[in-house]
Amino acid sequence: MAEKIPFVTKEQLEDIASRYATPFYLYDEKGIRETARRVNKAFSWNKGFKEYFAVKATPNPGILKILHEEGCGADCSSYTELLMADAVGFREGEIMFSSNDTPAEDFQLARKLNATINLDDITHIDFLERVADIPDTISCRFNPGGHFAIANNIMDNPGDAKYGMTREQLTEAYKRLLAKGVKHFGLHAFLASNTVTNDYYPELARILFKVAVELKEETGASIEFINLSGGVGIAYRPDQPENDIMAIGEGVRQAFEEVLVPAGMGNVRLYTEMGRYMLAPYGALVSRVIHQKHIYKEYIGLDACAANLMRPAMYGSYHHITVMGKENAPCDHKYDVTGGLCENNDKFAIDRMLPEINIGDLVFIHDAGAHGFAMGYNYNGKLRSAELLLKEDGSVEMIRRAETPADYFATFDFTGLFNRD
Ligand SMILES: *Cc1c(COP(=O)(O)O)cnc(C)c1O
Repeated sequence: MAEKIPFVTKEQLEDIASRYATPFYLYDEKGIRETARRVNKAFSWNKGFKEYFAVKATPNPGILKILHEEGCGADCSSYTELLMADAVGFREGEIMFSSNDTPAEDFQLARKLNATINLDDITHIDFLERVADIPDTISCRFNPGGHFAIANNIMDNPGDAKYGMTREQLTEAYKRLLAKGVKHFGLHAFLASNTVTNDYYPELARILFKVAVELKEETGASIEFINLSGGVGIAYRPDQPENDIMAIGEGVRQAFEEVLVPAGMGNVRLYTEMGRYMLAPYGALVSRVIHQKHIYKEYIGLDACAANLMRPAMYGSYHHITVMGKENAPCDHKYDVTGGLCENNDKFAIDRMLPEINIGDLVFIHDAGAHGFAMGYNYNGKLRSAELLLKEDGSVEMIRRAETPADYFATFDFTGLFNRD
């Protein structure tokens, strides 16, 4: 079984924890930069390739700034994500807006920032025209329906997904947009999440490339970019094979050569909107063991809870746990590792074989860098933790402070309550 090794040592982590209260998120700048460079290299054969990082995965300016420096753009889906991208310095051509069920204000801000709008639905053409205007460049999101399978393995069920337009609607949408003066078109689809196979992007690319060729023939639209969106996964379990981004880039290149080049569409730019692949392995939730409980099962109580990392409670997701300093100890104890919410699903691990744990141990919960902090919430009055960046020189920068009770109460007005006579 392959090992998962934390990107910090126990000594480093104890030192960090002596300066910042646990729990906290810790991100690894080196891993983030190396991955961004690898992705850009894997697609360097395509002139104009750009990864628009899915901001929702890790909405922190300290992280977005690093990705911007590595040449990535930002993929936003809401008003505040657009504000954040703008504040970090992403400019025209660097902001994708892939939203759904979109409020008018969001489209208005997207237009103001000259973000590239990716329309989720055919009815959004008239909506966008009414609330803002129709830009020169626009993209449409495709949903092929049915099941999405790779070599007979069903990967996901687009027919049940709320996103995108049907094939017929795409043709109609392009025609209407052409009539409204659109000059440059894009095409987008997101068909499966967290795929751990090098075949997902190539299969998706082939589908989108064929549709793009058809759309060009049917409508005469100038299709200039194709957006493969997110969905490239990571190996959350130590025994899973990892995706090989170079092989993925090469698979997409073959589909490009076979489908687009012969159709005279060799100038199409490829975009991606990866979140998980870019960030998940390079963020960890660090927490300290504060209790041990022996009833019908053995429980380890952490100072973090599902409000800090929701994926195990929400999806039953596996997150590998390293007990710092006990990396080489035998995993001969079976534990449920819990947080303190009044919810029995507040468990980071169930029946997990781990080394013997003591109160005071630090645990490193792996692969929490994407869709981790971001999905946090305040149930039970639990407060969001700090986010820390381990820089390439080994120093640590706080890129978001922990919430305080004052933050939690900030949206209340207590004036009436204190007026008691
Ligand atoms: C969530 C999302 C992404 C990122 O997905 P990952 O699986 O994290 O790569 C990209 N694009 C859109 C439109 C999304 O909703």
